[in-house]
Amino acid sequence: MQIKKLRLSGFKSFVDPTELRIEKGLTGVVGPNGCGKSNLLEAIRWVMGENSAKSMRGAGMEDVIFAGTQDRPERQFAEVSLTAERETNDVSSLHVGDNDSELEIVRRIERGSGSAYRANGTDVRAKDIALIFADAATGAHSPALVSQGKISNIISSKPEARREMLEEAAGISGLHVRRRDAEQKLRAAEKNLARLDDILGDME
Ligand code: ATP
Repeated sequence: MQIKKLRLSGFKSFVDPTELRIEKGLTGVVGPNGCGKSNLLEAIRWVMGENSAKSMRGAGMEDVIFAGTQDRPERQFAEVSLTAERETNDVSSLHVGDNDSELEIVRRIERGSGSAYRANGTDVRAKDIALIFADAATGAHSPALVSQGKISNIISSKPEARREMLEEAAGISGLHVRRRDAEQKLRAAEKNLARLDDILGDME
């Protein structure tokens, strides 16, 4: 999956609609302290489904919405859109616009209403978004997104955490999610069968 475009509106310091094209190869973001470089990386993690406000440097998720300045009032919503080129071997579990060569994921948060996601114009769940990116060996917690302090965290992390990181890089973490889902469904089916046996027993 190749990220091509990022659009932000009302997200942290990016109050006005801002569009960034990400070309192939290495992309560098430069600017003075506090101009919003880290906010850009956070926008990518957020649209990929980040659900920890703390890791977005906020107390609650609504803190990603532009909080206002002396000259400008606060915003009521924040929206980030990420457009990616689909690879031919993409095994995305979500069959939205399967014939489209591009995938556009939009996450929007409104004060008091929480977050909502869209994939190529279709409403989807946070879980679907996590699977799309897990299948493409990326995502909000992907080691490909290196934020400040991440390297020292990896060096000091426990073997289980390092294994998780390798599984994410290999694109197999989505399989664990699916296995958990399948196991839950199996348990529910087993319960239903047991209940059916009870009912049939009563009828005999
Ligand atoms: P450095 O080089 O020091 O790491 P940076 O370029 O990475 O800085 P960021 O940390 O991305 O900068 O941006 C910080 C700026 O974003 C601060 O000016 C802060 O006030 C602003 N900011 C963060 N959240 C919001 C918000 N919800 N509303 C308005 N501005 C915000």
